[in-house]
Amino acid sequence: MPELPEVEIIRVGLAKLLPGRVIEDVWHDWPKSFPNSPSDTAKFLLKAKIVHVRRRAKVLIIELSSNYSLVIHLKMTGQLVYVGSTDKLKAKSSKLIAEEKFGGGHPNDSLVGKLPDKSTRVKIDFSDNSKLFFNDQRKFGWMRLLPTAQVPELDFFKDIGPEPLDDDFTAAKFIEALYRRKNSNIKAVLLDQTMLAGVGNIYADESLFMAKIHPLTPVGRVSRTKLVALHSDLRQVLQLSITKGGSTDRNYVDANGKKGSYLSFAQVFRREGQPCPRCGTIIEKIRVAGRGTHICPHCQKAPK
Ligand SMILES: [Zn+2]
Repeated sequence: MPELPEVEIIRVGLAKLLPGRVIEDVWHDWPKSFPNSPSDTAKFLLKAKIVHVRRRAKVLIIELSSNYSLVIHLKMTGQLVYVGSTDKLKAKSSKLIAEEKFGGGHPNDSLVGKLPDKSTRVKIDFSDNSKLFFNDQRKFGWMRLLPTAQVPELDFFKDIGPEPLDDDFTAAKFIEALYRRKNSNIKAVLLDQTMLAGVGNIYADESLFMAKIHPLTPVGRVSRTKLVALHSDLRQVLQLSITKGGSTDRNYVDANGKKGSYLSFAQVFRREGQPCPRCGTIIEKIRVAGRGTHICPHCQKAPK
């Protein structure tokens, strides 16, 4: 499952390529991947121009000039691949860039191979002959067309906490959110999507290690100073992962077909048995909140 940094990498890439393009045609092969009526599609998708590409938690939102948006959830194996026009004349006349390729999401060969392939569920053709492919091997993902005004009202957005990377997400707001579950262990709270949007296992382990907090510590027993440090460490590790091209398992390939440096930013995650980069103690793997959890038993003292 792509985590927040991977989805943000896709957003940044598509935000450079899609705005201004006009949708000419759409094809899909699986109803659940594109659960939209033919009449809505004809009225609000075809001939619409792309205005913005946004993200909320792990969901991408492509806003259209029709006041509708394409809401995209990649789920387990989804990926989006943009293929620029090979028609240079047409691309030039529309002042758009020709022959670019950009993709992100589930790391497999469809990111770099010829498209469409057998994992392609939706293909969007733009008026300059460039294309956007939504590939999804396991068919859990989807692309829904909705009035833009209704997007924030979607059930799965209503219950989602603040975005950890937003400028106005201050340490005070972070602590206020955490304190709503003072008796729960801090790792479970970090993973709770109603507290914070999009923080997965890797980012919880890495930020708790950086802030020297044992994942089993109840929130109410962590000092304010450490919570302030955790706020900054969490943002730092998410940002670092975005710069390093994400964290996805195996051969992650980013926007430009470049392989992401696999977990190169991780100091404890999946490093059990190796020395702690800070003190040399052997990193251990324990279970917290039902998830494999990586700690340095010296730097992160267990709660008494
Ligand atoms: Zn250590």
